[in-house]
Amino acid sequence: MSMDINNLLEGIEYKDGILTHRGKRILIVPFSWLINLQKEIENILGPEGAYVLIRKASYEGGAEFAKDSERLFGHLPLEHKIRAYLQISSLTGWGKLSLEKFQLDPLEIIVKYEHSYIEGAYEGESEGKCYFFTSVAAVIEQYLKKEGINFEIEAIETKCIAKGDPYCEFVFRKHS
Ligand SMILES: [Zn+2]
Repeated sequence: MSMDINNLLEGIEYKDGILTHRGKRILIVPFSWLINLQKEIENILGPEGAYVLIRKASYEGGAEFAKDSERLFGHLPLEHKIRAYLQISSLTGWGKLSLEKFQLDPLEIIVKYEHSYIEGAYEGESEGKCYFFTSVAAVIEQYLKKEGINFEIEAIETKCIAKGDPYCEFVFRKHS
């Protein structure tokens, strides 16, 4: 399965102030809105609290996406499903996502993340800042569940442009 930006845009409809994509209501906002929200949560709760809160919130979104995507590419083998998901995420503007490693046993999935949504918003940080990206763990978990594999997945941001790396990178493993 391969999608391009035109396939994606075809699914968008507008009526009476309601914008939808394949039946789901969407909103077009500048990324600065999301970044300001993340930074304000950090100011109030600290980086640790912000990470936990955003991880929880984006996890729900990821799980919902995984369910919805079953009708689109539920028939694909796991690795291709993950590739299709990353492709859709790239097309929706999150940055360029590519699958660098796919290993099932023991589970190790590496995703390269270029032009992260936080690009230009942080520098000189000691930890990764792509909190919203943890929703990918939820999607992978749901896809594994479909294959009869049930365990929690952790997302470790091993590289981040906020730390001065040239791109971000996430490793997904079984939660220890
Ligand atoms: Zn990052």
